[in-house]
Amino acid sequence: MSRKIVKLLGNPGAGKGTQAKEIVKRMNIPQISTGDMLRDAMARQNGLGVENRKRMDSGFLVNDATVNSIVAERISKEDCRMGFILDGYPRTVPQAETFQQYLDRTDRLFVIEIRAENSHILGRLVTRLMCPACGEIYNSVSRKPNQTGTCDRCQLALVRRADDREELILERFRIYREETFPLVEHYQKTGCYHKVDGLRPIAEVSQEIRKIVDCEGR
Ligand code: AMP
Repeated sequence: MSRKIVKLLGNPGAGKGTQAKEIVKRMNIPQISTGDMLRDAMARQNGLGVENRKRMDSGFLVNDATVNSIVAERISKEDCRMGFILDGYPRTVPQAETFQQYLDRTDRLFVIEIRAENSHILGRLVTRLMCPACGEIYNSVSRKPNQTGTCDRCQLALVRRADDREELILERFRIYREETFPLVEHYQKTGCYHKVDGLRPIAEVSQEIRKIVDCEGR
């Protein structure tokens, strides 16, 4: 059985996490977020977390070898047999080159860039809150919780990410532009690249993504 692999690309705050969760619900394939896995390692204070806390807390990328190996291990699990959604990986051209080696000839890869300009998404990020249990993402611009500060699903108090401070957000935008944006050109050459407008309402972006992934990939 060939795997359907959806790779979401986009600026911090473009909506990758939110859209990944929509795809998980609909396609029943897991979301693989390297950011979530690294934050989880930090919370557990294991070797990986302790080693990378400084870089993550200052908005810098952790090294390619570290993320490549956590992804290789994660996608070898049984629940990835039918496919998976990559959120936040690959983040550099060398990561994309390594990731290519993890693919089979029969895999269908969809790279979807959720395009949203920095100036429009700063407001989302400075007000972004996450549920510590289910990972649901809220903000006061495009996705307000029903009750301020509380997850609609779990009824738990929402938390702010340590790197969602304005000065760090601007640094993460810079890093995205310099290290991750070159992936657009990289994937444009492969024919599996698609772009959606991330400034539209969440449901419309989801619909657009649905149209893309419901087609046959290559
Ligand atoms: P994210 O949740 O995707 O915004 O990631 C949060 C932080 O985790 C980033 O600022 C990086 O420090 C680290 N990180 C997540 N994914 C990667 C990756 N693919 N390569 C390098 N660092 C990453």
